[in-house]
Amino acid sequence: MTSPHSDHFDLVIVGGGMVGAALACACRDLDLRIALIDAQPPQRDWPADSVDQRVSALSRASEQLLRRLGAWPRMQALGVSPYREMVVWEGLGAGEIQFDSAWLGEPNLGHIVENRVTRLALWEQLEQAPTISLLCPAKVERFECGSETTQLHLSDGRTLSAGLLIGADGRDSRVRAALGISCDLLLYDQHAIVATVEPEHWHRETAWQRFLPTGPLAFLPLADGRCSIVWSAEQHRAETLLALDDSAFAAELETAFDQRLGRIHALGPRASFPLRRSHAKHYVSGRAALIGDAAHAIHPLAGQGVNLGFLDAAALAEVIAHAQARGRDPGHPTRLRRYERARRHDNQQMLLVMDGLKRLFSNANPLLATGRGLGLSAVDQFPPLKRGLIRAAIGLSSR
Ligand SMILES: Cc1cc2nc3c(=O)[nH]c(=O)nc-3n(C[C@H](O)[C@H](O)[C@H](O)COP(=O)(O)OP(=O)(O)OC[C@H]3O[C@@H](n4cnc5c(N)ncnc54)[C@H](O)[C@@H]3O)c2cc1C
Repeated sequence: MTSPHSDHFDLVIVGGGMVGAALACACRDLDLRIALIDAQPPQRDWPADSVDQRVSALSRASEQLLRRLGAWPRMQALGVSPYREMVVWEGLGAGEIQFDSAWLGEPNLGHIVENRVTRLALWEQLEQAPTISLLCPAKVERFECGSETTQLHLSDGRTLSAGLLIGADGRDSRVRAALGISCDLLLYDQHAIVATVEPEHWHRETAWQRFLPTGPLAFLPLADGRCSIVWSAEQHRAETLLALDDSAFAAELETAFDQRLGRIHALGPRASFPLRRSHAKHYVSGRAALIGDAAHAIHPLAGQGVNLGFLDAAALAEVIAHAQARGRDPGHPTRLRRYERARRHDNQQMLLVMDGLKRLFSNANPLLATGRGLGLSAVDQFPPLKRGLIRAAIGLSSR
């Protein structure tokens, strides 16, 4: 162990978003000095009836991880919204598929959770951990990567050194850039518009998704009856939609959603995010590793991004704990590559599947639309395949 007064840490995690905070939590009981650095503190309070514009559909696997980390009870107290069914349908014709948690003997398929809730619950765990130094707000400005340690220069003038450096600093990761790791990058010509809406009819605790040729539109159910929407649309269309006043936007939304939940009564503020697919060519370089969006960014059409990130955090924590338990160096590149082997291939598969779905459903060719509709309906009539698909989507088939 190093001196508690030194600026050396065994493990430095840059980025305390949901994924970096989960990794820190998973490592807090190891005999390591850990620093978690983030430019932005978590949001601590908010008006009672407000909803974060950023929500995530968290899989059952993510719930299990968050339970093990001790964050889930606090998240439940702050508010999580279960969804028990999922309905997906083709925008250009017939074809629909439904999934129900009851077929799996599960209470739900997952939960819709505000990102601020997940992050705060994890940070509150970290605040009680004596092994963790939370350096926040602090931004890492510069890295000097050596063979034994990395020096980090922070915006507040501090300098730290790290035996093991983790980049959990999101899709524009500076850690990734400092390590010289390049990415397979594809900028989609789509932006995701997010907002909270109040539909006329109850959402039936169902996650709804319509595949339109211009991009998928999801209505994610919230416990209070409202829905959080994620509407992916080509950039030009997204800009037009964002510029509409509330009633014109609501009318467009009702049409795009086939009025499945009736009229849209109320609409919260809208925001939009440019969409991309990116995958780091390596997750590990020397004594450093990437996790979460720093390693991979994915189209949100199946709500997998942070779920994959949590699996990265779990796999990396396991590698670190394993080394630690045997008195070995957890930052040794050979050990870190076990993490890369455990995760990169699985993430690559998921990225390719999402990319394929995005391309397949964004095509307005009527023949293809008919084929898609028939395909959805055919899968809908084949319970074993449906069960397999949904188990994979909600993370019940993951290790
Ligand atoms: C519209 C939309 C909908 C989505 N829906 C879902 C969903 O339903 N389900 C799902 O699983 N995923 C979803 N995602 C993906 C999910 O939001 C991301 O995968 C997730 O937020 C990534 O978390 P992260 O912790 O890896 O990165 P981030 O959330 O980007 O966190 C990175 C952190 O690093 C900090 N940071 C960055 N640079 C520095 C620096 N130099 N110094 C210090 N700190 C730094 C930032 O302040 C930030 O807190 C969606 C994404 C979008 C765009």
